[in-house]
Amino acid sequence: MSNKWVYLFEEVSDAEKYAGNWEGARALLGGKGANLGEMTRIGVPVPPGLTVTTEACNAYLENNNQFPEGMWEQELEAMKAVEKSTGKKFGDKGNPLLVSCRSGAKFSMPGMMDTVLNIGLNDEVAEGMVELTEDARFVYDAYRRLVHMFGSVVLGIDDEAFEHPLDEYKEKKGYKLDTEMIAEDWKALTEMYKAVIKEQMGFDFPQDPYEQLKLATEAVFKSWNGKRAIDYRNAAGIAHDLGTGVNIQTMVFGNMGDTSGTGVAFTRDPATGENVNYGDYLMNAQGEDVVAGIRNTKKIAEMSADSPAAYKEFLAICDKLENHYKEMQDVEFTIERGKLWMLQTRDGKRTAKAIVKIAVDMTNEGLITKEQAIKRVKPSDVDTLLHPQFDFEAKKAAQEEGKQFASGVNASPGAAVGRVYFDADTAEKMAKEEGQDVIMVRPFTKPDDVHGMLAAKGILTSEGGATSHAAVVARQFGVPCVVGASMVRINLEARRMMAGDVVVNEGDWISVDGTTGEVFLGEIPTSSPSLEEQTELMTLLSWADEISSTEGIREFPKEWPTRGLQVWANADYPADARRARSYGAQGIGLCRTEHMFFEPERLPIVQDMILAGDDVAARQAALDKLLPYQRADFDGLFEAMTGLPVIIRLIDPPLHEFMPDERELLEEVIGARVKGEELPEKEALLSDIEALHESNPMMGLRGVRLSVMMPEIVSMQVRAIFEAAADVKLRGFEPKPEVMIPLTGHVNELHFIQPKLEEIAAAVMKEKGVEFEYKFGTMIEIPRAGLTADQVAETAEFFSFGTNDLTQFTFGYSRDDAERNFLVKYVEDGILPLNPFQTIDRDGVGQLMKLTVEKGRSTRPELECGICGEHGGDPNSIEWCHMIGLNYVSCSPFRVPVARLAAAHAALTHNAKK
Ligand code: ADP
Ligand code: MG
Ligand code: MG
Repeated sequence: MSNKWVYLFEEVSDAEKYAGNWEGARALLGGKGANLGEMTRIGVPVPPGLTVTTEACNAYLENNNQFPEGMWEQELEAMKAVEKSTGKKFGDKGNPLLVSCRSGAKFSMPGMMDTVLNIGLNDEVAEGMVELTEDARFVYDAYRRLVHMFGSVVLGIDDEAFEHPLDEYKEKKGYKLDTEMIAEDWKALTEMYKAVIKEQMGFDFPQDPYEQLKLATEAVFKSWNGKRAIDYRNAAGIAHDLGTGVNIQTMVFGNMGDTSGTGVAFTRDPATGENVNYGDYLMNAQGEDVVAGIRNTKKIAEMSADSPAAYKEFLAICDKLENHYKEMQDVEFTIERGKLWMLQTRDGKRTAKAIVKIAVDMTNEGLITKEQAIKRVKPSDVDTLLHPQFDFEAKKAAQEEGKQFASGVNASPGAAVGRVYFDADTAEKMAKEEGQDVIMVRPFTKPDDVHGMLAAKGILTSEGGATSHAAVVARQFGVPCVVGASMVRINLEARRMMAGDVVVNEGDWISVDGTTGEVFLGEIPTSSPSLEEQTELMTLLSWADEISSTEGIREFPKEWPTRGLQVWANADYPADARRARSYGAQGIGLCRTEHMFFEPERLPIVQDMILAGDDVAARQAALDKLLPYQRADFDGLFEAMTGLPVIIRLIDPPLHEFMPDERELLEEVIGARVKGEELPEKEALLSDIEALHESNPMMGLRGVRLSVMMPEIVSMQVRAIFEAAADVKLRGFEPKPEVMIPLTGHVNELHFIQPKLEEIAAAVMKEKGVEFEYKFGTMIEIPRAGLTADQVAETAEFFSFGTNDLTQFTFGYSRDDAERNFLVKYVEDGILPLNPFQTIDRDGVGQLMKLTVEKGRSTRPELECGICGEHGGDPNSIEWCHMIGLNYVSCSPFRVPVARLAAAHAALTHNAKK
């Protein structure tokens, strides 16, 4: 038996059986066809029809544009079945069947062939239909639509060739609107359209309905390899071998008088997610009229008055479809003389806000489980909700008013409104000196432009993709950004840009939507609701935490964590810690103490401490002055995080970072020398700073090495930590300090310093007369520490991966130099699949982390392991952290909600209970 190439809508079960499952049926029939079949199967009224499979499309394209054997015969046979169920006959003037031809691939995508309506009409059938309907205007309106659509869509004649005669005709007759055209007019136009086809193609518009059907079917197949379709698939990452289905469906008419109509609707509000029908319809109109915006449409709810019975049925069908698909649906329908027909259903596109609300509501309605709700929301949706967004109605209005200027790749989410500037210096100047909101616009950006990008509210480029410099930097710093808006031509000299013939001059306002990639003229209002205001999101994240905290969801050796990941936050100050906690953080994974050294009243003391050199007493005196400051810093942090762990990292950067800039000082001193003046103090300072100079400070005297050379600094810090913790405990709170030693490479470094620090801790607790839990541990940033983790873990009670440095040292890259000089090209050219500073390089750095955890827990099974590098907020990296058995990920407070969802996703993806 030859292949089955054609399925009637009512044969969807056969398609599913053949393809193995529903996903397979969607691939075989295309999304539109599969859903038409599915609606038929569950008893929703769908005009009868058939689907030619995507397999037939692929066979046709592989076979030199020949229908595969048996296909056309099957299509004819299926048409007979459609005739039987409608009681009409294709090409019969006494009782004609008309059909539409609709393309439909597995994923709905632009660039595929447009729908052709009214196939089956010819001169003879038209005459017959006039007798039948007694409505010549309706018939010839339908006929001219067919000839026009057939000419432009199937035969590829320029639309203009059909629009021009119509305009000319109307002008000659003195008509303004199409509605003024009467039967004779449409009939005349049909003849003119036929002449257009004859002239352009050299053959007549086919009068044989089966010839129409055949050519339309072929045209859909060919559209799969049209340029627009290929470009779209490349951009969207859709495979090129899926093929498209062809749907041939009985026509129903919404333009047969006042009891007919047509509309499009969502089963819930796609902007807010509210559980109300949302959409538009028109009485006495055809499908396209609703979208075309020629006539003012009515809100769906008004249908209850215009067509009560159909409306009631419509509501019931919406419920039925939602119950069936368990998703919000986007539907098309037509009412023909009071009878409702559904023409399409698919999962509705919606805003991030609606994604979350609908997922939560559907869970509460019992339609889906919490797990399904969590899976439906992407981490990037949560990210979007935490950035400023455009007011939905205002943006829609801007769209309707034709204010959309351009579109490109949505490189970094969020909404930005500002005035356009075309170079980084001007952008920065206008932002800083004039206090303006700035959008920086460039063909593309370079490392020299970063100061302008940081000063800008938003970024727009006309070139480059999702991994271009502009995109990478914008995401890094959370600046909304659209890249690759290729329709925009930038004239840097004239200080203006154009898209089509719309001009935007420097200083003009634009609105950039980094979430969708759209750019608008003028200012669109934005809003940024706090997390606390977003009750559905809060609920969803609490479900995410429930999933992550399920014991047994990870399968590991005894004493390893078997629940999912916790999410902690990196926070240096009490205010950050409070925000982190309100965002759901379950600990502080990194508090960097050196920030505190930079505050104006402290920096001179820090410098005195550094300049004390060998004078231990002078150094101690300076440190004694710093101690109360540090203690106060930690006090607030422990109070804010009562009951939860707080990891405090001891001093990390090289000391010269705390000193005045060497070059500036040198210039000042030389200037004085030239003038014959003397600046003895500055000269002395300069030579001290010169003494601190290192040729590669990143790999020099910093981290634990500094503590070994000058133990007094960390001794002071540990005393401050424990005094603060003791005070907080005495006030009735529950401090849980964890002291973190940075940059360990050899366990002997810990042997040297850690016991001294532990002694201080014990001494303070004794002095204050309190006890509390605490830990001493280390950061893992140096590959050697990872490779010898079994030894390191004998002393360290916890590990925290500092994946920024660990990536630098594992790759041998200095991050700043890499991002400036070659990393962008590496990622663009695919030499590296991803920027390893954004997403953990699983094969290299990731393997090292895995080994470190295993070795560490081989000597200390209960070893707490976490990550505090920027990767801790990246969903892909979070999944890896879950897989290798970390206890927690720690990220910036703003990323905590995203990370909570990503942690739950990882737990569900690798669910050990299933
Ligand atoms: P698109 O992908 O552009 O939505 P569709 O195939 O859904 O293309 O059809 C375009 C318009 O024609 C829609 O309004 C649709 O409802 C209408 N349409 C398609 N087939 C029929 C039909 N058999 N009867 C009536 N209207 C139809
Ligand atoms: Mg389409
Ligand atoms: Mg449609």
